[in-house]
Amino acid sequence: MGIYAITGAATGIGAALKSQLLAAGHELVSVDIKAGDVIADLSTAEGREAAIAGIRERAPDGLDGFIPCAGLPPVARPLSLIAQVNYFAVVATVEGLKDLVAMKRGSVLIVASNSAPMIPRDDPFVDACLAGDELAACAHIEIRDGHTAYAGSKRAVTTWMRRNIVSYARAGVRMNAVAPGITRTPLSEQVMSDDELGPAMQAFGKSVPWGGTAQPEQIANVMRFLLSEDANFVCGSVVFVDGGSDAMLRSDDF
Ligand code: NAD
Repeated sequence: MGIYAITGAATGIGAALKSQLLAAGHELVSVDIKAGDVIADLSTAEGREAAIAGIRERAPDGLDGFIPCAGLPPVARPLSLIAQVNYFAVVATVEGLKDLVAMKRGSVLIVASNSAPMIPRDDPFVDACLAGDELAACAHIEIRDGHTAYAGSKRAVTTWMRRNIVSYARAGVRMNAVAPGITRTPLSEQVMSDDELGPAMQAFGKSVPWGGTAQPEQIANVMRFLLSEDANFVCGSVVFVDGGSDAMLRSDDF
């Protein structure tokens, strides 16, 4: 059985994956701002350091997998928090744990979104994130909007994963991303009930080709597979789990 570390497992998709990994007999180290083995605010540099140190202390012999699942919705304010948690905390914790995952030829699974491709690849917010300039990205996003902050942070983190795949794979880390569609969690409930973004999200939910929205367990099922030995040649992939929405919107791009 393996040992995995996960952020953002207090609720939603992270909580579903945590239950599944524990039920399969794995050990788990969880990091969250609300509840977990390590309590840390990943929007701050101190919180990221505490998360990395807490995981290292509990898994000194290496990790079979790391899942930076913590995320904030497009309705979070200030918008810079979305950049800090959804992009900069992910990159900082993945980088900070790379050697620990490599010790076991383990796997990193980024939690992206099917909204990521909705932001152009040359968006200045995405560029600032990928340049690693947290101050500039946070300053810039304050003059934009919640959708750009959320989907842009997911585009940036997905692109970061793909740009770094050679270095990670050669170091012995298999890295992939899952891109969920609308999933019933506290995060999506906040967006659904927002006056501005709610109606658009509800309409998007009704357009899903396969019908309906996902339960967190449906996303966790695929994440568990991607982390497992059954997926040990899947590397650098972005796996959409969204009932066909991305294929409907971008049929010719893959
Ligand atoms: P959720 O709100 O249920 O879970 C998010 C978790 O992140 C919570 O446990 C929360 O406490 C934690 N968190 C938030 N801010 C934090 C901080 N500063 N420091 C530490 N922990 C923090 O939401 P979810 O829907 O399960 O989201 C999980 C991931 O899935 C996120 O990255 C989200 O962007 C992504 N996602 C969700 C959907 C969806 O429709 N729910 C769709 C695509 C992608």
